[in-house]
Amino acid sequence: DPPVEKYEYQAEVSRLMDLIVNSLYSNKEVFLRELISNASDALDKLRFLSVTEQGLLKDAVDLDIRIQTDKDNGIVTITDSGIGMTRQELIDCLGTIAQSGTAKFLKSLKESKDAGADSNLIGQFGVGFYSAFLVSDRVVVSTKSPKSDKQYVWEGEANSSAYTIREETDPQNLIPRGTRLTLYLKRDDKGFAHPERIEKLVKNYSQFVSFPIYTWQEKGFTKEVEVDEDPADSTKDEQDDQTEKKKKTKKVVEKYWDWELSNETQPIWLRPPKEVTTEEYNEFYKKTFNEYLEPLASSHFTTEGEVEFRSILYVPSVAPMGKNEIANSKTKNIRLYVKRVFISDDFDGELFPRYLSFVKGVVDSNDLPLNVSREILQESRIVRIMRKRLVRKAFDMILGISMSENRDDYEKFWENFGKHLKLGCIEDRENHKRLGPLLRFFSSQSEHEMISLDEYVENMKPDQKDIYYIASDSVTSAKNTPFLEILLQKDLEVLFLVDPIDEVAIQSLKSYKEKNFVDISKEDLDIGDKNEEKEKEMKQEFGQTCDWIKRRLGDKVASVQISNRLSTSPCVLVSGRFGWSANMERLMKAQTV
Ligand code: ADP
Ligand code: MG
Repeated sequence: DPPVEKYEYQAEVSRLMDLIVNSLYSNKEVFLRELISNASDALDKLRFLSVTEQGLLKDAVDLDIRIQTDKDNGIVTITDSGIGMTRQELIDCLGTIAQSGTAKFLKSLKESKDAGADSNLIGQFGVGFYSAFLVSDRVVVSTKSPKSDKQYVWEGEANSSAYTIREETDPQNLIPRGTRLTLYLKRDDKGFAHPERIEKLVKNYSQFVSFPIYTWQEKGFTKEVEVDEDPADSTKDEQDDQTEKKKKTKKVVEKYWDWELSNETQPIWLRPPKEVTTEEYNEFYKKTFNEYLEPLASSHFTTEGEVEFRSILYVPSVAPMGKNEIANSKTKNIRLYVKRVFISDDFDGELFPRYLSFVKGVVDSNDLPLNVSREILQESRIVRIMRKRLVRKAFDMILGISMSENRDDYEKFWENFGKHLKLGCIEDRENHKRLGPLLRFFSSQSEHEMISLDEYVENMKPDQKDIYYIASDSVTSAKNTPFLEILLQKDLEVLFLVDPIDEVAIQSLKSYKEKNFVDISKEDLDIGDKNEEKEKEMKQEFGQTCDWIKRRLGDKVASVQISNRLSTSPCVLVSGRFGWSANMERLMKAQTV
C-alpha cells in the first residue's frame, strides 16, 4: 500500500475547526450548501478551462453533482465531475486558509456571539469546506485533477489537529475526474443521511446552481400481478381443488433506486422578467452572493441590437462588513457569463466604474468569445458598450429607490453608498446629469433630514440665481458660522456640506440645473442685494480703518474689506475667490500630517 502521510493543520485552521466542532450548533444544515457551492465552483473552473484546452473533458463529458445517502450507516457522499485537486492543492486548499478569511470570520462570530453564533456566516469567509465538520466526525475527500494521473485521498477528523493524504487504491473509488466527499455523520446528525431530507435541502439551498444536482432516491412503479383469490376467504374452503381457481390481478409497487434531478438548471436571468417573482430575485441574490439580507433593489433586463446581453443587477442593502470607506474597484460583485458559461467574477473596473463597484449582479453575453481574457475585456468595443448600458441601468435602479414611497429606503441607500456617488461626481463627468438628482445634503432649513438638489431648487427665492453652500465639519458648526447670518436673514437656504468629500464633489459638479454652486465663505459673495451708493459711503468712512488693520496683521491676511454680509458679528475671515476654502484647508492639512 502507498504510504499515508500525516500533516498538521495551519494554526488558524485548527482554531477554526475547534470552533466549528464545538461551538456552532445553529443552522448546521448549511454544510450542504457550502459543499455544493464548492462542487459548483469546481465544475465552473473545469468548464472554463475546457473551452481552451481541447480534450480536457476526455470521455467524461457530464458536468454534474451527485449526492448519495446511506441512512443505515449515516453516510453522505457528494461527487462532482469538476476540476478536482492535485496532491499539492489538497494541502494548500484543505489544510491552510487565507489568514484574513479566518480572522474576519472569528471576529464576526465573536460579534454575533450574543445573538447565538450562527453557522450561516461560514461561507462568506472562504472557509466553507470546514462546515463539513458541523455534522461529521470524519470527512474523506477523494479527488482526481486532470493535471495529475493519480487520485488522492484527504482524510480529516473532528477534534484532530492533523489530517492525512494517501493515494487512492480502491478500484471501486476511482473516478475519471473530480471530487468525491464522504461524510461520516455524527451520531446526532445522522438524520441528514435520509434521502428525502437531502433532496429537500438541495431544493431549498441550491436551487440556482447551474449544474444538475442528482440525489439518489428510492422510486417505485406500480405493476399488475396475478394473484390467487384472497387466501383469507379460502382458508376454510376445502373445495379448492375441485373448483377452477379464479384468476385475479392486484396492483403492487415495485421499489428501486435511481438518480433524480433535484434542482432547476435554467438560469433565472434567461426567464422572462414578467414570470420571475421578487422573492425569486431576492433568493437568487442571497444564494449567489452569499448574502443574508435582501437587496434594496433589483433590475432584470435584456439588451438587443448592437450588443446582446442579459443581466440582473442588485443594490445591496448594506455596504460590505466594516467598510464604510470606498471599496476598491476589485470586488467579486459582477459574475460574467458568456452563453451561460461562467467566465469570471474578477474584474477591475471593466464593467463598472470604481464608484459603482458596490452594484452586484450577473451579466450573460452572447457576443463575447468564450475564451475571453482580461486583455480582450479591456480593449473590447463590446465591453465598452455593455459597460455604458450597465451603468445606465444601475442609475435607473438607484433613481427608482430614490422615488420609492418609503423614504427610509433611500436614506438607507445614501447612508451606505452616498460616498460612492459623491466619488462619482469627481470621477465621472459624463454622468453628472444622472448623479446630481441622487445627491443629498443637510441644509440651513433642514438640519435633520437630508434634502435633494431638486428640493433645494424648488425652495429657491424667485430672484435667487445660485445654490449656496458652506463646507464644515458638522451641522452644528455650519449652523453657527457667521457667513450664514445675512443669508438666514434673507431666508435663503444654504446647503451644509459636512462630509469631507462633499466640497470636492460639489465643485466637480459646478452647477445643477444651470444654477451654479456658490461657496458662501468666499469673498465677494453676491446675494443680489448690492447697494452701490451705500457701499461707496461705507468704503469712504471705514477705508482708513481697513488700511490700519491690514498694516497691523501684515502677511497674515491678503486684504481687509468692508462687507455687507454680516449682521451681528463684527468681522469674519473669508477665503479668496480662487483660494481654498477653510474646510479644504483643514482637509489638506489633515492629509499631509
Ligand atoms: P472557498 O470556496 O471560499 O474558496 P472553501 O473552504 O469552501 O473556501 O474551499 C477551499 C478550497 O478548497 C476551494 O477554494 C477549492 O480550491 C478547494 N475545493 C473545495 N472543494 C472542492 C471541490 N469539490 N473540488 C475542487 N476543489 C475544491
Ligand atoms: Mg466554498
